[in-house]
Amino acid sequence: MNKTETVTRSPRFEVIHTGGEEIYAPYAPRPEKFGGKGVSLCLIARAGLKAPPAFILSADLFLYYFERQKTFPPGFTEQIDEYLTALKQTFAEKSEDPNRPFTVSVRTGAAVSMPGMTDSVLNVGMNEDNYRKARRFFADDRIAGEMYKNFVELIAERVYQIIPDDEDEDLPLPDRIAALKNQIHEETGEKFPENLTDQVIIAIRAALESHQNPRAVFYREIQKISLKDSAPAIIVQAMVYGNSPGLSGSGVALSRDPLTGESKANGEYCLTAQGDHIVGGKKTPLNLDHFKQKTPTLYKKLSAGLGKLERVYHDITEAEFTFENGELWFLQARPGKAGAGALLKITADLFAEQAIDEDTAILRVNPRVCETFLHPAPDPDFPYEIIERGIPASPGAVSGKITFTSEDAAICRSRGENAILVRNETAPDDIHGLYAACGILTVRGGATSHAAVAARGLGRPCVTGAGGVKILFQERRLLIGERSFKEGDEIMINGTTGDIITGAPPVVLPDPPAAFFHLSYMARRKRRLKLRANADSAEEAEIALRFGAEGVGLCRSEQILYGADGVNAVCEMILAESSAERVAAFSEVRDHQYDLYEALFQSAYGLPVTVRLLDPPLHEFFPDTEKEIAELAEKLKKPLAFVNRRLSALHEYNPMLGHRGCRVGVSHPEIYAEQTRMICQAAAGAAKLTGLKSKPEFMIPFVSFAKEYELVSNNIRAIALAEQENCNGAFDFKIGAVIELPRAALRADVIAEKADFISFGTNDLTQTVLGVSRDDSARFLADYRRNNILSFDPFERLDLEGVGFLIELAVQRARSAKPEIEIGVCGEHAADAESVVFFEKIGADYLSCSPYRVPAANFAAAQAALKKV
Ligand code: PEP
Ligand code: MG
Repeated sequence: MNKTETVTRSPRFEVIHTGGEEIYAPYAPRPEKFGGKGVSLCLIARAGLKAPPAFILSADLFLYYFERQKTFPPGFTEQIDEYLTALKQTFAEKSEDPNRPFTVSVRTGAAVSMPGMTDSVLNVGMNEDNYRKARRFFADDRIAGEMYKNFVELIAERVYQIIPDDEDEDLPLPDRIAALKNQIHEETGEKFPENLTDQVIIAIRAALESHQNPRAVFYREIQKISLKDSAPAIIVQAMVYGNSPGLSGSGVALSRDPLTGESKANGEYCLTAQGDHIVGGKKTPLNLDHFKQKTPTLYKKLSAGLGKLERVYHDITEAEFTFENGELWFLQARPGKAGAGALLKITADLFAEQAIDEDTAILRVNPRVCETFLHPAPDPDFPYEIIERGIPASPGAVSGKITFTSEDAAICRSRGENAILVRNETAPDDIHGLYAACGILTVRGGATSHAAVAARGLGRPCVTGAGGVKILFQERRLLIGERSFKEGDEIMINGTTGDIITGAPPVVLPDPPAAFFHLSYMARRKRRLKLRANADSAEEAEIALRFGAEGVGLCRSEQILYGADGVNAVCEMILAESSAERVAAFSEVRDHQYDLYEALFQSAYGLPVTVRLLDPPLHEFFPDTEKEIAELAEKLKKPLAFVNRRLSALHEYNPMLGHRGCRVGVSHPEIYAEQTRMICQAAAGAAKLTGLKSKPEFMIPFVSFAKEYELVSNNIRAIALAEQENCNGAFDFKIGAVIELPRAALRADVIAEKADFISFGTNDLTQTVLGVSRDDSARFLADYRRNNILSFDPFERLDLEGVGFLIELAVQRARSAKPEIEIGVCGEHAADAESVVFFEKIGADYLSCSPYRVPAANFAAAQAALKKV
């Protein structure tokens, strides 16, 4: 049994040797040095399970190699030679067969996993001698020949960038191998290395280089993984042969079901196959239930092994295994990836099983995953047609246009359309397409194929192994059973059930799983920050409240004004030339909108509802084209010339910095006055219906000057107080400011003196502090990321050094002027986990984010509180 590892330190990097028999020192290998895979080999051995012996070269080697013009440290060859000799000896002790070819695999493994993004090289060591042995050992020339050929081909492609000649394809395998070696020699002048050490060094080079290939770079970019976190260790491990003709094969197994979370060994395997057959989706694998029937003894061993690994990882565990002639080996292990709903169940179950404590359970929920776990399903109230069923590989239902290439999926996305990427199988090179597509459908592969793993990581619905689907690539057509679809036709895939459905039927959100509520409840008790929602309707508020929001932190009143029925009335009000006309026009606006506000307050059941008074530039309400303008004039029964004259009077060169926000309240106080009156009356109306006092909070947008705030808030207060009296105090109200301009942040103390609350509008604040338009930034921020000026999108994650610095200052100033001032955050950053850590640190009181992000913000806030302790 290989239960130990030993450590040696070379001057440039560290090495762990696993599989030996002696314990040299208690040692806790760090994933940053030895990668998740490297550490897993130590953990497998410590769990008392069998893994082929290996040596692991720390990530320092990667850094050395790229820092020193792709060279290895002095003495590297001798070192590798020595390690290989030791490895061979350790392994030879276990194998009694003198014909057993000794080969190794060379893989990379970093602290963060990048599934399929980098190259593994298997069967390193195949040369004429091992080929002879292999033919005897396998008693099958084809298996031996395939192994040899695959190895030479991979090295040819990855190391020498040589594509094998097509015309050699029909040659017998040994001739093909010889021809390819010749081709390498002719095209590069280098002889294909025949000795094990040289081959291993070349394979290490290929593996290191693959970390810099475009797909790995792109993967790091979209997963926000830094190069340092992804510096890989190199694992050189003795090969066991799942492709042997006896009871042999390879598989990937999880300790729990990755789709349902059920506690039962789950996975797939292929008979007489090496690991890359499964991961690469080259063969459609069999389910583990089949494994159980075929070989109950091995299945039992596998299940027990997974249980032991779970106790080491304290998490759902995924393991790669190989069995060679009835002997089971674990090749590597890692915490498993599961669908978002399953992951919640597993975390809640592990807590219930006392495998993890409450804080660990909360910290384990990835807030970002939370956003995608509320998976849509086809609406059962509408008929839809299931035309085929594949393997459910990543949950959620989505419809989109059929595309056959990653490029087409990307084009579709850039047009703002949904694409379903349909492929026989996907390869790591397809990462662009997987990212661009809204859903992925593959003909081959199982639930652990590349497409499946990548889709789960990206939160895209995915169906794999849809054997009834035929791709006619040249004709850009798809045959599903009797049906024919062309590129651009719409289909739906349901990654929760594996269904393929015609067209784009409507979807609904099913009820979240029980574990979600359980964990959310645990998180809620741990967080200090309160949670509110940005909701512009009663429906949105209800969703948010169901997810645990404690009020509405931002209702953008213009969203209610935009309501299709009322927009003409709003236009009439804006076009009006006098204050009296504006007030008169507002009465129609009120007719359209009173009920919406009343419903909003009613849905909040006495919780605070912050309504931001009109914010956007007025021209946003108007149509653009001449035809639409003419239609508007007709509807309003106004002369076209009048409408055009008023429109040009309202024209602005830079509307985002123009007549918007409270500037409108200064110029036309009657607009805010009428809005306030309506909101107060609706709040009172709702209070009658709920029997609870309503709590409107008036938010004044786009404030720069304390005096500006004072003027506008005094007007509002006078009206709100009068209305409060009219309804015998059916509501309590507050008035505050959105801090979304740098001047307001700098003068937060004087504004706070006059305000009940301030709330940071981090969207506009980011825009104005950076001087970057949020609507145009996508065009150039990618260049900033590429040039390492910015490593993130500042509209998603708060720019702590700039915008954060200003917010912290503003909070200090506001609190120094008025310690009890209530402080909220209502920009998109309020649900971003990393930004929330900052909001916790500076002592904000509440976060307000869109309803579907409330679950994420709940976990982010709880985690921030736990991290602060
Ligand atoms: C903000 O600027 O952060 C904000 C919440 O307002 P909006 O997104 O409506 O501009
Ligand atoms: Mg704003």
